[in-house]
Amino acid sequence: MPKQVDYLIIGQGLAGSLLAWELIQLGCKVHIVDNQKQNASQIAAGLINPITGMRLVKNEAIETLLPCAKQSYQALSHFFKTDFYHEKAMLRIVRSDKELKKYQQRLLDPSYLNFLKTELQTAPAELIAPLGLIQQKQTGALSTVPLLNTLRDFFQQQQCYQAKEFDYHDLQTENHLSWQGILAKKIIFCEGYQAINNPWFQYLPFQLAKGEILTFNSEFPITPQILNYGRWFIPSSKYQFRIGATFDNKVINTLATENAKSNLSAALHKIYPSLKSAQLCNHQANIRPTTLDKSPFIGQHPKYKNLYIFNGFGSKGSLQIPFYSQHFADYLLNNTPLENRVNINRVL
Ligand SMILES: Cc1cc2nc3c(=O)[nH]c(=O)nc-3n(C[C@H](O)[C@H](O)[C@H](O)COP(=O)(O)OP(=O)(O)OC[C@H]3O[C@@H](n4cnc5c(N)ncnc54)[C@H](O)[C@@H]3O)c2cc1C
Repeated sequence: MPKQVDYLIIGQGLAGSLLAWELIQLGCKVHIVDNQKQNASQIAAGLINPITGMRLVKNEAIETLLPCAKQSYQALSHFFKTDFYHEKAMLRIVRSDKELKKYQQRLLDPSYLNFLKTELQTAPAELIAPLGLIQQKQTGALSTVPLLNTLRDFFQQQQCYQAKEFDYHDLQTENHLSWQGILAKKIIFCEGYQAINNPWFQYLPFQLAKGEILTFNSEFPITPQILNYGRWFIPSSKYQFRIGATFDNKVINTLATENAKSNLSAALHKIYPSLKSAQLCNHQANIRPTTLDKSPFIGQHPKYKNLYIFNGFGSKGSLQIPFYSQHFADYLLNNTPLENRVNINRVL
């Protein structure tokens, strides 16, 4: 007997996992297929940062995205009795007078005060920051690997997870959707950057970006805050930290490079010289599913109406995926229109 499901989901990165979880909560029958290659979600720092760039720009949807992300991760933490999201203050090292001026301007805008403290902090002894430190609020990091592993175990217990390469040639789309003994009403592709190989959705203008991240152990206790200095520093314990990430949309592969290692290390040593003695314990590289217009790709294939995509979360998966999982589920189950900004119809 073939297994019958409402949704066949391809990919168990953060997008496929949170969408599957959402659909299961709503009573849908899902089956998830993942090829278990190292994915962007597994190496991502999981950083959530409402104010970014030299111009200190607030994410325009932050008031919608952030409460939803926090609430979703809290609900998952409650269900699985493990903390997945860790709110941590971020100190942003002021690098120029121009940046300082922009900060002062931002403080005049009340909508920024939820995210920026009004006083600059002076640099502690271990940091080089002569112009001071901007204190950002409502920042934090998702422990993505524990979350994905926990969800995979859960899906396995529910017998709705399969570790396998989904070969596009094996999908039968005539009359009904059928793949290796599974009959699905709809299929949702959540393949991250590997969507560029998808014969139905490769027309979408992805603009992929490679990123590299380093993990170090320190023999002495490190600063407990996240540091932002053009790059970021995230303490994962009292003696371990990650730094990153590079951003390269020209050379797209998953190879760790000496160049990235020396650039990331040099940037850290400039602001935190005592960490020159820290020991490198991991160097990872992967590819962000970024898009040309920087908005996600969500929606229904223009011709094959039972094929869907949920992808394109770029550098902001941890912030965006919880909200858009709910938004997409609402569209699938209740026909609630998708936001134009994310709907793939915009690129027809
Ligand atoms: C270096 C780096 C740092 C980052 N830092 C952050 C950060 O600090 N904060 C943040 O929010 N985001 C960050 N990101 C971005 C974040 O990783 C992505 O937004 C998010 O993880 C994308 O999730 P996804 O599920 O769409 O893709 P992926 O995580 O790539 O998952 C896709 C899954 O689909 C599977 N798959 C694909 N094709 C097939 C197939 N044919 N058959 C079976 N399985 C298939 C893949 O193996 C994979 O498991 C970073 C990314 C990188 C590379």
